[in-house]
Amino acid sequence: MLQIECLPLLQDNYAWLLFEPRSGTSGVVDPAEAEPVLVRLRELGRSLDLILCTHHHQDHVGGNQELKKATGCRVVGPARDAARIPGLDMGVAEGHSLPFGATHARIIETPGHTRGHIAYWFEQAQALFCADTLFALGCGRLFEGDAATMQRSLAKLRALPDDTRVYCGHEYTLGNARFALTVDPDNAALRERVRQIEALRARGEPTVPSQLGEEKRTNPFLRWDDPGIRRRLGLETADDAAVLGEIRARKDRF
Ligand code: ZN
Ligand code: FE
Repeated sequence: MLQIECLPLLQDNYAWLLFEPRSGTSGVVDPAEAEPVLVRLRELGRSLDLILCTHHHQDHVGGNQELKKATGCRVVGPARDAARIPGLDMGVAEGHSLPFGATHARIIETPGHTRGHIAYWFEQAQALFCADTLFALGCGRLFEGDAATMQRSLAKLRALPDDTRVYCGHEYTLGNARFALTVDPDNAALRERVRQIEALRARGEPTVPSQLGEEKRTNPFLRWDDPGIRRRLGLETADDAAVLGEIRARKDRF
């Protein structure tokens, strides 16, 4: 099995501590900074074997070099972006299986936010680490890819099982929720989810992980083929990428 612990870093980033108890394998996904990771590892009495990087942005790889120096861990990240991942030891690509103790992660390439962005899918643990591609009720900005590229990436994630838990890279959910209601206001499941999110945030609790099935029902960035959303956008007959692109453009202006 895989134990997963949330580590809030910087303003609104989430890093994820991973621990596979049978082998004692220890990892961290997207350490924006090193010190809080080292402090927590010390509390847990753990070493660090692996850093799993999703993309090159500083708020995801900022702690790589220091963690590597302090623990001797190895750094895994997208082969397509090898030059931009500090300390990279092992580049991985679409379909690769990354061993993690007694379990493993499948690599899914998800370009769009950056051209090298990848997600880690731990099928047995039903956990998806998708950073800035798919957020709870949102998706990442298109810094290095167009809407068609992002739509294909999101379609790959949407094809995973409903009971997958979605561990994204930021606590952006409340803002995403307010926007989602503007493009999908008649979605009762969305309105109910927004109420739950408001309650969680009012108590200062994280809204991540979410559940992929719920994202499919409520996240407008996974609902490019929903007739109600298409009607509201006046894009009944547009292709999927155009619908996703319009939703993304509206969110940029929101
Ligand atoms: Zn990013
Ligand atoms: Fe980020």
